[in-house]
Amino acid sequence: MRLLLVEDDPMIGEAMLQVLRAEHYAVDWVRDGVMADSALQSEQYDLVLLDLGLPKRGGLEVLRALRARRAPVPVLIATARDAVGDRIAGLDAGADDYVLKPFDIDELLARIRALLRRSAGRGEPVFAHRGVSLNPATREAEAHGQPVLLSAREWAVLEALIVRPGAVLSRAQLEEKLFSWKDDISSNAVEVYVHGLRKKLGNDFIQTVRGLGYVVPRK
Ligand code: CA
Repeated sequence: MRLLLVEDDPMIGEAMLQVLRAEHYAVDWVRDGVMADSALQSEQYDLVLLDLGLPKRGGLEVLRALRARRAPVPVLIATARDAVGDRIAGLDAGADDYVLKPFDIDELLARIRALLRRSAGRGEPVFAHRGVSLNPATREAEAHGQPVLLSAREWAVLEALIVRPGAVLSRAQLEEKLFSWKDDISSNAVEVYVHGLRKKLGNDFIQTVRGLGYVVPRK
């Protein structure tokens, strides 16, 4: 899952970056509203963490522009505890939820998981399909009743595919889920992770669709 973090405070931003990366999210961090606008127009994100008080262009303006483009990406706004008016304005401008600063990190992570779940059209907290299950809250995976150890990137590939069984994702789409700007992408990285997953989950759990990409079949 790829997240955009919009935060101008260097200490808060650095701390959030570390926490989110430790949870295996691919994160891009921008520090003003203009950079946020351009990142949102050029990249595909699964979720945006948006501070409202930002240099150059305020968070509310960024949010309104995003929704005016009809972008459906979930947005979690971050506001000060006493700024009730900001929270209401943010929700009315198209934010999906908010967190209060200073953050309770566990609550922040739980809200992110809930939004990602809802944006995938699911209510249940565990992904389960054809004998394989993933629990994003505990980072535990199972295949056919046995625990399976997945690397962070194997997890990211599997999560992207299992969210929508039957949907084919191209290598480029999977790379977007896996890497943020600063990472180097080796040309066969996705193939390597898929290969690792097949060894752990069984050869046919992820199928190759020639010329198109990969799919977790519906049945
Ligand atoms: Ca700020």
